[in-house]
Amino acid sequence: MMQRTIGVAAPTQNIAKPGADRAADRTVWSKVSSRVYLPAVLVPALGLLLVGAGWANRWGGVDFAGSLTSLRLVTIGPLAAALIGLFLVLERVRPAQVRPLVARGHRHDVLFVAINAVVVLPLVTALTLSLADVVRRVAPWVILPRFGVIPRWVAIIVILVAMDACNWMVHLANHRVRMLWRFHELHHSQEDMNVLTVFRTHPLIHVSYVLAVVPALVLLANGELPALLLVIYGGAVAFAHSNTNLAFGPLGRVFVSPNYHRIHHRVDGPQDVNLGFVLSIWDQISHRAVFPTPETIRADTGLPQRPLRVEQQGSRAQHLTVLAAQLLGPFRPLKDPAALVSVREPAGSLPDNSPAEPC
Ligand SMILES: [Zn+2]
Ligand SMILES: [Zn+2]
Repeated sequence: MMQRTIGVAAPTQNIAKPGADRAADRTVWSKVSSRVYLPAVLVPALGLLLVGAGWANRWGGVDFAGSLTSLRLVTIGPLAAALIGLFLVLERVRPAQVRPLVARGHRHDVLFVAINAVVVLPLVTALTLSLADVVRRVAPWVILPRFGVIPRWVAIIVILVAMDACNWMVHLANHRVRMLWRFHELHHSQEDMNVLTVFRTHPLIHVSYVLAVVPALVLLANGELPALLLVIYGGAVAFAHSNTNLAFGPLGRVFVSPNYHRIHHRVDGPQDVNLGFVLSIWDQISHRAVFPTPETIRADTGLPQRPLRVEQQGSRAQHLTVLAAQLLGPFRPLKDPAALVSVREPAGSLPDNSPAEPC
């Protein structure tokens, strides 16, 4: 009898315990997710995994310091700096929006230039070398053999165009996948668009953009992008962010102009349009191209209702506090889980979004 009682009681306990565990798990999960947006943790985790694999294999024998120096030269070297200087002058000569020389947004973007030099460039070097090493080891067939009939300059043009297409696709994903949007919204938070806004990115967004390296890997045996072309490509992307009233005329149907990219950053319009980096053809093919009009040239930029802290808030700019909030921003808990990933519908009038006086 005793044995029978125990025999009946034991399974009941076994059934009850997992249920209680599940309830406890749910409580722990809801407690954690009320403090942290957990899916965002996947992005650094993926980056860490990739860089860990590259580091463990000594970057596939490639010189890390040499690669970093090359990337530094391309991104912030003398030629890149001269181009940025030229664009800064153009912004003053032909501004889309008239504003003080050193507006709050300009000062804040200088901080992002420093973050790029110190954090982003080593991170991008590590991600790029790691991805190349992993592809070589896991899927070497991705790297095509040398095609003798194809001239190197043709291969280089194909790599550039394909790289731009990859950047477009990753950019679209950054707008459509909430986990990625959390890292991309910082770029869209700028209300004083200027040439340095190109550097205003969350360092971890580069975990997604590393995919743009794939075309260069595929055609590695057929041609390598010269540093000069990379500087020009980067310069073109930077210029698209400048506060310059320029649309490129008929060439604007092929290349991304400042007036065209500004529409992508508009506060009161859909922001998953005009996603192109240098070529606007990808937007046209996907029916996401919106061409500039006199109304869009001076459009205000930023995010409706400022979901992320920005330097224009408050009577005094608090650059370091704002920067810390922006870098931690992707991990803040969701306020409205049903909210759209990106801004697709016009936000209407947003009186609390008008930029404060610069100080
Ligand atoms: Zn975007
Ligand atoms: Zn942009």
